[in-house]
Amino acid sequence: MVDSPNKIAFITGIAGQDGSYLAEYLLDKGYVVHGLVRWDSYADPAQGFGRLSALGLADGKVTLHNGDLTDAQYVTSLIKSIQPTEIYNLAALSQVGVSFDTPASTLDINTKGTLAVFEAVRLLDMERRVRIYQASSSEMFGSSPAPQNENTPMHPCSPYGIAKLAAYWLGRTYRDSYGMHISNGILFNHESPARGEDFVTRKITKAVVEIEAGHNAPLTLGNLDSVRDWGHARDYIDGMWRMLQQDMPDDYVLATGQAKTVREFAARAFAQIGKTVQWRGVGIDEVGIDKKTGKILVRVDPALFRPKDVNYLLCDARKAQDVLGWKPNIYFDDLVSEMINTDREILYMESAQAFGSLSQTA
Ligand code: NAP
Repeated sequence: MVDSPNKIAFITGIAGQDGSYLAEYLLDKGYVVHGLVRWDSYADPAQGFGRLSALGLADGKVTLHNGDLTDAQYVTSLIKSIQPTEIYNLAALSQVGVSFDTPASTLDINTKGTLAVFEAVRLLDMERRVRIYQASSSEMFGSSPAPQNENTPMHPCSPYGIAKLAAYWLGRTYRDSYGMHISNGILFNHESPARGEDFVTRKITKAVVEIEAGHNAPLTLGNLDSVRDWGHARDYIDGMWRMLQQDMPDDYVLATGQAKTVREFAARAFAQIGKTVQWRGVGIDEVGIDKKTGKILVRVDPALFRPKDVNYLLCDARKAQDVLGWKPNIYFDDLVSEMINTDREILYMESAQAFGSLSQTA
């Protein structure tokens, strides 16, 4: 553990994928850690506090505050009472697909919620005492050609991307206007075993281990041709922290620089369970076949296509490497392997529990 006396972190979205890893990382550095969790995270502990519990953080190691990022008065009073030295604003409606169904609440949470944090710091006269990390996203680049970096024009293609872009510009404007230490981390997709089950990578790894366990239904996916630059969340939270240790705030993209399609992610996941996928057909008729048995492993479902998709995200993260000394340690194959192994363990534990309760009722 590195001792960081007097460092107090406030993480919004602490129960999410990045928030839980970041809490663990900062505790290890000696920070006092506070986190904002939504009231309704209680409704599904497996999705919410499950991540903090899995890291051994649910029992008092972090101080959790129940509330909503969109409640500006509450956010202000919380920041006043916590007196953080660093704020990591990670809370968001983070599913791009869902943002098409709920554009208004996406803007409320991802843009106005971010504004609540910036305004709280300004109104409390804490501009010179707090450093803020704002979770920006590669989805802000949208249809801009790859490879994208900090200077690439932004053309978002979803309510999520638009809301994040507005928050990004609020960050730059508050930095320039009020001298606030706000850094935008423009992060490309990062995954882990703690990724929400409604994200495509986790959907794939969960379905693949179920097929390995004997489930018959094929994996259904949307756009197989979407290209993403996928890294591991643990690497990216180190980059977030590095941004706030700089004397001057700035904006950085973080990514691996390796591009893979959704099709390649699925094939790699099946390879982990010893199955080679052969792809046949095109468009919505494309299927992934088990080379050995001829059984259909993957189907395309048009209902899973987004109204407008970002087709190609691939990053040039040289600035983060040069200025922050940041580089990823975990790449595609190891990421997929870790996710498959963890989902296999989870399935095994769930089956054992189900068997245990069946034997008790028998
Ligand atoms: P995540 O797992 O979905 O975590 C987001 C957290 O925000 C969730 O715990 C969620 O709570 C919470 N939240 C949502 N609305 C809230 C509200 N109104 N008030 C308080 N909390 C609220 O997302 P993540 O993958 O950790 O991502 C962290 C941040 O980075 C997000 O801002 C995301 O948009 C951004 N980002 C992520 C990636 C990526 O690939 N992971 C890439 C670029 C940017 P519930 O659990 O109750 O829903």
